[in-house]
Amino acid sequence: MSKSTVSRLASTRIPTAYGDFQLCYYSNTLDNKEHLAFVMGSVSDADNVLVRIHSECFTGDVLGSRRCDCGEQLDRSLQLIAGQGAGVLVYLRQEGRGIGLLQKMRAYNLQDQGYDTVDANLLLGHGADERDYSLAARILEELGVKSIRLMTNNPLKIQALENEGIRINARFPLEATVNADNEGYLLTKVRRMDHLLKIKPAATWVSVRTAHDCEPAD
Ligand SMILES: [Zn+2]
Repeated sequence: MSKSTVSRLASTRIPTAYGDFQLCYYSNTLDNKEHLAFVMGSVSDADNVLVRIHSECFTGDVLGSRRCDCGEQLDRSLQLIAGQGAGVLVYLRQEGRGIGLLQKMRAYNLQDQGYDTVDANLLLGHGADERDYSLAARILEELGVKSIRLMTNNPLKIQALENEGIRINARFPLEATVNADNEGYLLTKVRRMDHLLKIKPAATWVSVRTAHDCEPAD
């Protein structure tokens, strides 16, 4: 199968509470979705660019749902990028770990009946995680990024991006604030999806080599 490609169709300045970003809109050859990059500063031809690959979560990102940590991760990523004066947030339109908003809402109802987030997806006939990171890799290449420092707790994402040829020099954990509504969801991420999440974090850079060997917190 030939590699998917992306084309930047437009970019425009978006002023935020954290400063000015450029919003870049991409078309691609894999799907019909509006994948985006939110870029601060100069990242072309740069090494160790601070990067967040964020999968869309309407309920968390826009509505501020406390069922998950997505909105918080999005906000924290933009804050960290602004702190560095440069970086990229790639915004992938793969809602609900790739199953879409409707199925995610149905999965939430199953979770309210006692199923965890993995089993709820399986019951609906989906994989636990159907996300694809190939377009994120193509977008980083299009931006001219040479190597990155990735903000993530997800070892599968690190592996997927490396398989796509992205050089990841370090990982920065994005620790979640635990509340009564997201505690079960976060524990499932750690126990069943190998997320490198600690409830009491030390927010320091971790070499990707050791990140692969990290024991998930329990
Ligand atoms: Zn979410």
